[in-house]
Amino acid sequence: MKIDNLLLKCSSCNVNVIFDLIDDIECDWGSHVVIQCPNCEDLFSIDNQCPAFSSMIELLKLNPDLLNSIEKSNYLSKSHPC
Ligand SMILES: [Zn+2]
Ligand SMILES: [Zn+2]
Repeated sequence: MKIDNLLLKCSSCNVNVIFDLIDDIECDWGSHVVIQCPNCEDLFSIDNQCPAFSSMIELLKLNPDLLNSIEKSNYLSKSHPC
């Protein structure tokens, strides 16, 4: 998934900030591309849902243009089986 605009409203701290992109971060099941809020340092996995990180679906509630419906269903379909 490619995100063109990383200026987002963070669902954890409710601040508009430019998120940092972190290419490769490990969880117990594999690795992810994540974005991090520089204000509250919360991490959101953007390649698929992961219980180790916050969900982009939370961000999507505040930033409706972040994902289209296809990207959203792809994101949810690839989440970990747990
Ligand atoms: Zn935040
Ligand atoms: Zn994971």
